[in-house]
Amino acid sequence: MSKENEKLYKELTAKTVNGYKKINPTEKKTMDKFCEDYRKFITSSKTEREFCLAAMKMLEKAGFSLLDGKTALKAGDRVYSVNRGKGIMAAVIGREPISSGVNIVGAHIDSPRLDLKPNPLYEDSDIAFFKTHYYGGIKKYQWTTIPLSIHGVIVKSDNTQIKVCIGENDDDPIFCITDLLPHLATKQMTKKMAEAVPGESLNVLVGNIPVDDDDVKEQVKFGILKYLNEKYEITEEDFISAELEVVPAFPARDAGLDRSMIAGYGQDDRVCAYTALRAVTDVRKPEKTAVCLLVDKEEIGSMGNTGMKSRFFENTLAQIAALTENDYSDLTIRRALSNSTCLSADVGAAFDPNYPDVYEKRNSAILNNGLMLSKYTGSRGKSGSSDASAELMANIRGIFNENGVIWQMGELGKVDLGGGGTIAQYVANLDVDVVDCGVPLFSMHSPYEIAGKIDIYMAYKGYHAFLK
Ligand code: MN
Ligand code: MN
Repeated sequence: MSKENEKLYKELTAKTVNGYKKINPTEKKTMDKFCEDYRKFITSSKTEREFCLAAMKMLEKAGFSLLDGKTALKAGDRVYSVNRGKGIMAAVIGREPISSGVNIVGAHIDSPRLDLKPNPLYEDSDIAFFKTHYYGGIKKYQWTTIPLSIHGVIVKSDNTQIKVCIGENDDDPIFCITDLLPHLATKQMTKKMAEAVPGESLNVLVGNIPVDDDDVKEQVKFGILKYLNEKYEITEEDFISAELEVVPAFPARDAGLDRSMIAGYGQDDRVCAYTALRAVTDVRKPEKTAVCLLVDKEEIGSMGNTGMKSRFFENTLAQIAALTENDYSDLTIRRALSNSTCLSADVGAAFDPNYPDVYEKRNSAILNNGLMLSKYTGSRGKSGSSDASAELMANIRGIFNENGVIWQMGELGKVDLGGGGTIAQYVANLDVDVVDCGVPLFSMHSPYEIAGKIDIYMAYKGYHAFLK
């Protein structure tokens, strides 16, 4: 190539490369440390409630305090508000008034899992089981024959709350869902994958020791009830007011000989939630108020009062607007929303060379090529998507380029094949400018998802550049 063409080629062509080729050794060190913190965080915070609690601790440590009880707010103040223990909004007050808009990074902290049914415990053939109802889009066969843990709360009718976390310590028992042995699976193996493991067979093994009393009808189940009563002081009816989630029991680990990736459960969307949270804690006195919004229930349609469709975000923003501008009119919050910009921080699909048929390679994100910017999501003709404007795309890529963020563009897969959504459309409904921007994953929604360390760190860096 001639010198002149070489220069022009560089200028004219858009090409992403593996971020490990771009990142300098000092920044790589920072990145490795960041990813180590992240790995530990997602190992110990596997549910929305656990994430929320850990987030509160992190925020308090970074100088944030509860919004409730504040009587006025000024630039540089750091506040947060918690939504029923399952969602959280943190803000660093900007120098500009709220009505001129805020910058939001929004992610979700719920992940696909198995919830215990309200009446979970039963006995069959001398074995006690918990019945489950899966939450979110899972491939059911992936949840058999792996170690599982149970996390959550049981609220007794006198309102005492019992926290449960079994299967995470090395000396804890774990739980498991059985699968057929190959010897007897001839028929099962010819079934469609979607039908091979029915939802009603996702029953968790919980015990096998009968009480020594032949007058008792279900002796193993009774043994488990007695154990639960001794350990947690609960009865069978208490399961009705419980939220117990069955999740993979394994810790997040470095993946690959070169440790370039992280494998772990629930990186959709804890990877974006964690990076967004770290980003907001590193913001000092921004021009526009910087907001980190972590919501629940994205995996089942953003419904309910802890999901993105709830008024929690608007209400909290209104509270902040009132306290900063001493203006309680509805118009202030409406103006604030209209002038706001949001990065919908959610994971995307990384191009998987083992399944190239479902991707369109020229428009797919490549693992470790950087933070993934998606103009739209949706399925088959952008259906159900919030399509970000060219103006917003320009603004965001400008910020990333200025701040040395390694980023790439990506669609979910081939046009006709499938698709998905994020919280973007619900944020957009509030008259906010929003674009999807997150970490590409392998094996999304599986019990063990893979993310690239470059992409994780660049998510933090990108969100921080946007908020600061
Ligand atoms: Mn997600
Ligand atoms: Mn998801």
